[in-house]
Amino acid sequence: MSGIKFTILSHGYIENDYAWNVAVPKPGSLEDKHPMAEWIRVPCFSVLIKHPEQGYILYDTGSCPGDEKDRRPKELQKLFPYYAKREEFLDARLAELGLKPDDISTIVLSHMHWDHSGGLGFFSNTKAGRNILVSRKDYEYGITETHCSTVPFAGGGYFKGNFEFEGLAFNFIDEDQSLASGIDIITLGGHTPELLGLVLHLDEGTVIFPSDAVYMSKNYGPPATRPGIVYDTLGFDKSIRKLYSLQKKYNAKIIFPHDSEQFSTLKQAPYFYG
Ligand SMILES: [Zn+2]
Repeated sequence: MSGIKFTILSHGYIENDYAWNVAVPKPGSLEDKHPMAEWIRVPCFSVLIKHPEQGYILYDTGSCPGDEKDRRPKELQKLFPYYAKREEFLDARLAELGLKPDDISTIVLSHMHWDHSGGLGFFSNTKAGRNILVSRKDYEYGITETHCSTVPFAGGGYFKGNFEFEGLAFNFIDEDQSLASGIDIITLGGHTPELLGLVLHLDEGTVIFPSDAVYMSKNYGPPATRPGIVYDTLGFDKSIRKLYSLQKKYNAKIIFPHDSEQFSTLKQAPYFYG
């Protein structure tokens, strides 16, 4: 009996060209030299875990801008428009469950891209804000890309503002490890130099969150299909092999980060899986 439970906190949705998620989805051909791009809508969510000894652990913070104005650069807003009502921001989602940011003990950030770290600002000077776990490789790459150039948004998904909230402290993760009984952190390459996936061993079975190492079921397969945005294609392939092996080992369910079809089948807060 692990006693671990989790719930899904939905933070609205992102729209974008499908070719970012799945590489060359409609190749041009002699018969159709200019195929139309496909415009899709994908979910954006975070995961709140209730652990019997560690209390509340948050996996990702959504892409909530933290105020009602989208503070992302204009170019980004055009490529990846993001739609969230105020009540869908992370602080409001926590409040719906009777929780404040100070009630969270730990934050595990899958990676520092804008749609996963955007709600960090809610945790300035809180217990969880001083206990953020991130991948060292991802953080180092992101902060270098954004702070050693004149553009506020760089490296394919890092946004300078999301590194600069006061009263935050980061603990760096370099390898697979147990976070608490029944919760494993796994390192996955490909999407960025490395990101953190999460394996939750619930009483009802094991669930794996691969974050953007695998956007959606179409990428996972089998057969796997590489995404259009990828830092390292061989790293993506390696992550897929690692996930196949873990899924088999634990007979696990995989919950993809940006798969609208799967997302429509998931129960959201206030329902807790366990
Ligand atoms: Zn993402």
